[in-house]
Amino acid sequence: MLKPEDIRYLVVHCSASPDDQPIGAREIHEMHIGFGWHGCGYHRVICRDGTIEQGRPEYWIGAHVYGHNEESLGVCLIGCHHFTDAQMTSLETQLREWQTRYPAATIVGHCDFPETEKTCPNFNVAAWCSERGLQQSPVQIGKH
Ligand SMILES: [Zn+2]
Repeated sequence: MLKPEDIRYLVVHCSASPDDQPIGAREIHEMHIGFGWHGCGYHRVICRDGTIEQGRPEYWIGAHVYGHNEESLGVCLIGCHHFTDAQMTSLETQLREWQTRYPAATIVGHCDFPETEKTCPNFNVAAWCSERGLQQSPVQIGKH
């Protein structure tokens, strides 16, 4: 069970599927079931057209960031390298909404965690946040 006060990170991911493949939460769900997981590991999925789809509810621990699932929420942009303006607008909306509810949480990219060798989400989340005026608290990742 994820308690609101446990949420320290809002983690941005990408699906690493081809940019021209308009999949959504349903396909991610199938893929993650295939991994032997309990379905879609993210809490939100953002489709190529900017639609925000539901993954896991926020009280359910996700499966998206090794070693930090018990203290984070995950949002996944569909695509790999080039995300649409609609997606980035929806990402900002989603993160602002989460920040209102989880003010202690900071926004990070999956690749910002030292435990992963992935480059996900393939852009600099911190730089993007400052461009958009999204608040980031100066936390040190991985340190408690
Ligand atoms: Zn990721």
